[in-house]
Amino acid sequence: MERLHTDLFDMECCKLCPRKCSVDRRAAGGSVKNGVCGQSEKIKIARAALHYWEEPCISGKNGSGAVFFSGCSLKCVFCQNREISAGGFGREISVERLGEIFLELQEKGAENINLVTPTHFIPQIRAALDLVREHLKLPIVYNSSGYENVESLKLLDGYIDIYLPDFKYADKGLAAELSKAGDYPECALSAIDEMVRQTAEKQSPEDCSSDGICSFDDRGMMRKGVIIRHLVLPGHIHNSQDVLKLLYERYNNTLYYSIMNQYTPPEDRMMLDALSKEHPELTRKLTKREYEKTIDYALSLGITKAFIQEGDTASESFIPPFDLEGVDL
Ligand code: SF4
Repeated sequence: MERLHTDLFDMECCKLCPRKCSVDRRAAGGSVKNGVCGQSEKIKIARAALHYWEEPCISGKNGSGAVFFSGCSLKCVFCQNREISAGGFGREISVERLGEIFLELQEKGAENINLVTPTHFIPQIRAALDLVREHLKLPIVYNSSGYENVESLKLLDGYIDIYLPDFKYADKGLAAELSKAGDYPECALSAIDEMVRQTAEKQSPEDCSSDGICSFDDRGMMRKGVIIRHLVLPGHIHNSQDVLKLLYERYNNTLYYSIMNQYTPPEDRMMLDALSKEHPELTRKLTKREYEKTIDYALSLGITKAFIQEGDTASESFIPPFDLEGVDL
């Protein structure tokens, strides 16, 4: 694998995300275990397949070409993808293989390439996109926790068409308690500012219809834009209301919001026991009433561009099997 060195993103002293661990992520002789994401410089993925559970303008009829990266720099006590985020499940692949996977997903009819939890592999992803740039015609979606460094995102300027960041917390204390990241609100806001800047500058006349900084083709599929996702947590609707207020005051209806009710308590017994001691509210699903109150609040603010979930989506599984589908040749 080609060694990736830039002034900002030196794998010998990684400061790619806000953790700024300064660890050596090089595979040989590195101290990779000390980095919060737990990942070496080698790309590791758990699945690359068509995925049907994103917002309708992302999944479409054919499904989004989702590539699930292993590891994560956040440490959410309620993580829904724990097997790959903390457990590190996945297979190491080369930059070249990642490029091939993008093209294979395109051949399977994917609506876009959806990079899921990609933050700790930004330089490697950029290198893979460079390799297949001529042949890859799909929009590229950057689907992240929102916990990002602006300097790292600048490396993606011109590579990403659709940003799909979470915005989890307005409250630093809650962010520290639930994700061990007290600086989450400020980091995520600066990151979204940068995502909005990049997207606003890239709108072109060939995009079929434009809607604020978002544009769609004639099938209603997003071509460029920003959708900010917020998962409403049981027992924390005040945080959700503060999040929506903060975001709406900053971005108004220039972009889309996705307000999600699909929180699922962990099935793992040990995790559930730990949660019941520290955060018993997170051992249950969100109630219909909690979700409705959050949506009513969004409407009262003036939010008009939002994806909401109907029915009992908390009982559906949005978590695909992490079975290495699409990873090997
Ligand atoms: S990408 Fe990983 S090693 Fe690098 S700063 Fe973030 S958590 Fe630490």
